[in-house]
Amino acid sequence: MAKIWSDEEARVPKPGITILPSIFYLSRNQEGKPYNLPVIGLDTLCSWRKRGGCTFCNFGGLRYPFSEKIFLSQLKNGLYITRGSPYLHIAVDGSTFDDEEVPATTRLKFFKIIKTIGYVKTLETESKAEFITDAKIEEACKILRSIKFGIGIGLESSDDFVREHCINKGLTKKVYINAIKTLRRYNVFSQAHVILKPPFLTEYEAILDAEKSIRYALNTADEVIFFPINIKSWGCLTGWLHRYKKYSAPKLWSFLEVLGNLSDKELKRVFLAGFIGGPILQNASNCEKCTPTIMQLIENFNYTRNREFLKKAKDYKCSCKNEWKRELTKRLPPLKERIIKEYEFIAKKLLGEEWWSNNQVWVKADLQRYA
Ligand code: SF4
Ligand SMILES: [Zn+2]
Repeated sequence: MAKIWSDEEARVPKPGITILPSIFYLSRNQEGKPYNLPVIGLDTLCSWRKRGGCTFCNFGGLRYPFSEKIFLSQLKNGLYITRGSPYLHIAVDGSTFDDEEVPATTRLKFFKIIKTIGYVKTLETESKAEFITDAKIEEACKILRSIKFGIGIGLESSDDFVREHCINKGLTKKVYINAIKTLRRYNVFSQAHVILKPPFLTEYEAILDAEKSIRYALNTADEVIFFPINIKSWGCLTGWLHRYKKYSAPKLWSFLEVLGNLSDKELKRVFLAGFIGGPILQNASNCEKCTPTIMQLIENFNYTRNREFLKKAKDYKCSCKNEWKRELTKRLPPLKERIIKEYEFIAKKLLGEEWWSNNQVWVKADLQRYA
């Protein structure tokens, strides 16, 4: 046994420069058994963030110029800390397949390191859809060979208006579908990310949006990763809106409502994430009394995939459920009408009254494109 372990240890790259990656574990069930899926986060700078970024995300705050040496050292440190894990999720701060973020030569070294350690059965990573091309995927698959490979793609919402004006995703459905088709050609599995409660949506609208988006994602991708938005403490619009009391994280009741409305067949391909990874200002939650129990039941579902745990959570009795139900009955003017006021508030606060009076015409016209 000692010999086997020392051989195993010998294959694991030893830490070099000590800039540690972020590491957290997602509760999962692999081959019928509970499994803590390591998520290794490597520091890069999401190129979409340079163009505004997604409103709920603060990823990609790289405070030093990209260095292959540091990047690969972080990877090796992450592999060392999580050594022996056959299922791995390794994410950069944006898109693994974006050359601006991870140069092609570095990316190939990254895959070679994963292949060389020998014990990885499944590797998941993430990329914005537009960076997924035949050439890049073919190259990666040639290195990874027998390793099952999956790529998470941020769809977030299937509603074009919500994706564009509430999330600023910069993604058309055509580009998303092309990416999935490319992955299929190489037997790479696709994981479409869907979020619960993009900014500007009410709790009720968020439930409808998530349900519709999950169904669209299930019809297009192999799996869905469903995230209730958590509010990051800095660097994102949701955090900024939260400070002005214009946004709060979704209720766990809403999360459970969406999951409860899925059929068994649909739920089979839906996986849950989004409660960890910091620093977080506010997570999806209910009241102080019921949140710990509900979270534990969601965790139990993740480990067992037994939907009884979700049913138990949804049926859990707590006085805060009535407040949530009341919240769902609130009706406001349509989102497209409300959002212009929200844009005005943000623009005046951040860019000033003058900017708004000089630019409001094109901003309004842009919103009308979706009317
Ligand atoms: S969600 Fe992804 S693409 Fe959007 S800003 Fe964050 S890292 Fe970049
Ligand atoms: Zn409660």
